[in-house]
Amino acid sequence: MRAKRSKKYRKIMHQYELTFGFHEPYQVLVDSNFLRAVHQFKMELIPALERTLQGKAKPFLSKCSLAAIMAAQPINPKTNKPYRPWHLPPPTELPLRHCSHNDDNTPIDEVECLLSLLCPNTDTMRNKEHYILATAEPVALPHDDVKSDNPKTRRQAEALMEERSEKALALRSAARAVPGVPIIYVKRSVMVLEPFSTPSEKVRLGVEKSKFKIGMEAALDVVSGLKRKRDDEEDGPSAPSKDRHAKKAKAPNPLSMKKPKRREKPKPDEQGKRKEKKREEESRDDTAQDTVADAEGEQAVKKKRKRKHKSAKSEIGAVEVGDGSGPDEGPVSADE
Ligand SMILES: [Zn+2]
Repeated sequence: MRAKRSKKYRKIMHQYELTFGFHEPYQVLVDSNFLRAVHQFKMELIPALERTLQGKAKPFLSKCSLAAIMAAQPINPKTNKPYRPWHLPPPTELPLRHCSHNDDNTPIDEVECLLSLLCPNTDTMRNKEHYILATAEPVALPHDDVKSDNPKTRRQAEALMEERSEKALALRSAARAVPGVPIIYVKRSVMVLEPFSTPSEKVRLGVEKSKFKIGMEAALDVVSGLKRKRDDEEDGPSAPSKDRHAKKAKAPNPLSMKKPKRREKPKPDEQGKRKEKKREEESRDDTAQDTVADAEGEQAVKKKRKRKHKSAKSEIGAVEVGDGSGPDEGPVSADE
């Protein structure tokens, strides 16, 4: 078995232990189809079960399953009894599970028997004995005449196989309806453990929901406890202190308050730089004009001098801001 699958099965069985109280050795009810499939695909009953369940397994065969197996066997003319089937392991390996469905202990239909063992009470729908169902899709045996040359015999055999398939399907879907019934299934040549059925999953989620609820309530208690503490602090001894606390509480985003400042600062810088560039260009124009007219050149020098004078007077930041569109710009532009 691949590591991934065995890990998955271990997880599933762990969930059955947690949710429904399963424990090793796991009790496995095997049916006639399962035994046929195990034999057909040359599996070893107990090792295969234990690999699938990832733990110790104890298989059982119900009396009614045994009756069904024997009823499907051809009769030995010498003893006038059915041949012991090859696919039926010895009782040491597969003990009988005694079941009694009526007063005279006559076996009943195998599927009905298995379902009564898996779910003794349809009102409570509980797998009290923690049984695991091991079943399979029906496999035709050599004496089933599915490949008979006689069309009539073949049709009869095919009808019998179809009936077995329907019964096998009914068994599995009924077993899935009972919460907490693990199902082992042989499909083709692979033994699989079915994932949680919807009813089983619902029970599992119900358990986890209550756990979640408890966790949620505990978390809410902590939160409300903290809130109460905060409220107590806010309703402090004196009114002014209360106001201060209220102010503190009302300014919860110092970072968001700082951020716009940081964003605003570079903008004027950039604007200032742009302005400076413009001015440089203007002054270049001015110098170009200087070569044309001396008077205008003098004005440009004056302008520059004035600006230097200003920047020397005031702080760099103020100049940067003032250069934008401040009132300080007024006289300069007036000079121009
Ligand atoms: Zn029975």
